[in-house]
Amino acid sequence: MIPPLVLVLAGHDPSGGAGIQADIETIHSLGGHALTAITALTLQDSRGVYAFQSVSADWLRRQADILLADFQPAAVKIGMIAEASLVPVIVDIVRQLPDVPVVYDPVLAGNLHGSLIHPGFCEALPPLLQCTTLLTPNVPELQILLKDQPLTSLFAQGIRYLLCKGGHQPGALIVNELFDRNGCLYQQTTPRLAAEFHGSGCTLAAACAIHLAQGQPMPVAVANALQFTTACLNSAFTPGHGQKFPRRS
Ligand code: PLP
Repeated sequence: MIPPLVLVLAGHDPSGGAGIQADIETIHSLGGHALTAITALTLQDSRGVYAFQSVSADWLRRQADILLADFQPAAVKIGMIAEASLVPVIVDIVRQLPDVPVVYDPVLAGNLHGSLIHPGFCEALPPLLQCTTLLTPNVPELQILLKDQPLTSLFAQGIRYLLCKGGHQPGALIVNELFDRNGCLYQQTTPRLAAEFHGSGCTLAAACAIHLAQGQPMPVAVANALQFTTACLNSAFTPGHGQKFPRRS
């Protein structure tokens, strides 16, 4: 049987903890195959983000064009974009895939306290939000995206589902909540692990994408993705001198 294909548009983290490598590992671990177009290179290890460099809009478009001429993805996962000029290219790419679920993890800052966007990036986002099936921000990212507007404003801009990740909130329990425009559809409460992780958000969003590619309904896909991510974090390893990496296989 051919594994379901997930088109991933994301940045490269050379440490392998986060970014496109996290997406590939997750998608393959859960029975899919990742097609990848890189949006940005980063300089980072398990301790910090030191710099990043976007690919050109032309190179992103050419990577995707070549893939889409040959393959039919069953889901799209978008991670770090960084540069406003790449947003219209990504919108063009996903518009070529009508009815294919689009998971967008709005990577604005890495867990390692470094910004992963250029100034003006958020202003370019509305056309992409219009094409987003599932948006997966953490609470600080959600606050940046909402700009004091209510949660409903994101649905008014076109997203269909919102998975709000509670890991940055204080407390012994982490609450992750899935919403549609009518309210909360699913909630996972999980004990906070006594460690810092690199790549947990990428793992979760990629797991959502492969489960959607497998045809799972949204609440089931999200519940299964949260369960997979929790298991990866419970068996995380420390390959360097900084954050732990989820064990995805
Ligand atoms: N994508 C890239 C390329 C990154 O470098 C990072 C973090 O540094 C992320 C995504 C987000 O990582 P996390 O899953 O830890 O939020």
